[in-house]
Amino acid sequence: MAVDIELARQRLEACRREIEAQSKQAEESRRTVELDQQSVGRLSRMDAIQAQAMAEAQERKRQHELVRIEMAFRRLEAGKYGYCAECDAEIPDGRLAIDPMAERCVHCA
Ligand SMILES: [Zn+2]
Repeated sequence: MAVDIELARQRLEACRREIEAQSKQAEESRRTVELDQQSVGRLSRMDAIQAQAMAEAQERKRQHELVRIEMAFRRLEAGKYGYCAECDAEIPDGRLAIDPMAERCVHCA
């Protein structure tokens, strides 16, 4: 038994909580910027467009991470978690600690 399932679950849930918190925070700061713009007109239109594009890109990245987390949970349930999707080798715990959603070993990544 290579993988500590409970530990993996905790790591994945911690990741998910963090990303969801970031998402919520981004949503709140977006509203704040909108309010600022309405009341003070502090940001130029270009700045606002740029900030919005950046915020959207970050949100897409977060949504992508949430999908990776969901897939990792499925591998966990299927008993495939912690094994490389390419070569079936055990993924070292040190790697999973850094990236709990890692699907491949260092050699196949
Ligand atoms: Zn591999």
